[in-house]
Amino acid sequence: RPALGHQIEQVPPSGIRALANAAWAHPDAVHLEFGEPDWPTPPAIVDAAYRAARAGHTRYAPSAGIPALREAVCAKLVRDNGLAEISPDQVLVTAGGVGGLHSAYRAVLDQDDEILVPDPGWPNLASIALAVGARPVRYALDPATGGFAGRAGLEAVRTARTRAVVLNTPSNPTGAVWSDADQAELGEWAAKHGLWVVSDECYDQLWFDRPNTTFSVAAPMAASITAFSLSKTYPMTGWRVGYAVAAPATIARMTRVQETIASSVNTVTQWAAVQALSGPQEVAGQMRQAYRERRDAAVSAATELELTHTVPAGAFYLWLSLPDEITDTARFALDFLQARGVATAPGSAFGPAGRSHLRLSLAAERSAIVHGLSQLADFLRTER
Ligand code: PLP
Repeated sequence: RPALGHQIEQVPPSGIRALANAAWAHPDAVHLEFGEPDWPTPPAIVDAAYRAARAGHTRYAPSAGIPALREAVCAKLVRDNGLAEISPDQVLVTAGGVGGLHSAYRAVLDQDDEILVPDPGWPNLASIALAVGARPVRYALDPATGGFAGRAGLEAVRTARTRAVVLNTPSNPTGAVWSDADQAELGEWAAKHGLWVVSDECYDQLWFDRPNTTFSVAAPMAASITAFSLSKTYPMTGWRVGYAVAAPATIARMTRVQETIASSVNTVTQWAAVQALSGPQEVAGQMRQAYRERRDAAVSAATELELTHTVPAGAFYLWLSLPDEITDTARFALDFLQARGVATAPGSAFGPAGRSHLRLSLAAERSAIVHGLSQLADFLRTER
């Protein structure tokens, strides 16, 4: 039997999934490991998909997306993200945020190029680089706030092979929302060194205290690509739809990548996405309010229990620091699950900066979050 290809062996298995698999074996586990909204997709969006399928929109779509959706994306970016103007040739409809990031990386990186990714950061920001034969290099975020730590951190890891830098705002796992000034500083630094910027804004509408500014407003520059998603805002994780925004020539290049992966995004899903972006936006606002209440409850419980944490300003995660001597968080999360039936994501899955951390999802009932936190505090006190 011929050997399998080696490139994909570089991609580590998901540390979050390993914990989730163990949690599924526990019938009564409290699930705080995954970042998935706990609301169903609103009926109006489901109905739009049904109508589209009944109307025969079941064939291949144009590679970059149906015109109605590219236009709806433009209208949304003006309405919700404050872009002054944008045209459909600056938009690529993608298979979720992950599809946009994959096409972005493929479009700008060659074999062995280096791409700077946040530490801690969403695991796929590094693993997509490995999957396309490039090298992820981590840059440190500010441990106290989970946000940008200044250009010195970037400069420390830049080499002659660096081609791109990624930011993620609001951040998974820290919940930090990058200020305009921080985004501008990163953008200036990237422009100075001739680097691409890839901005992952899959949580763009999930902010609590002040709106997230999109990178292309905070730091307009031609060499940038922003990936958005409908997964978290509408909630549509299983529909697999998002969009990427960049200059027309960049979108054309990314479209060529997408043609080799999926030809085009699921056509029925695209019609559902038109409804999501153009229809009533109440659900997104209600969810934001619910997450804000959970965030407040989580922060006050964690503070009362003397658990060290960042205060998330967006997304839906609580990033907790464990005592320094805990350096194997994969083991710790498993032990905690076995002992207390609470599933959390081990910090090490998010990079070396997460070695003594846990991430708790706030996409769960408030009572489950508070229960998880009090179990954690008790477990730390009594069983270690
Ligand atoms: N970016 C970040 C930071 C995420 O946390 C996720 C999902 O968890 C995604 C992108 C991609 O999600 P999707 O592919 O469902 O849009």
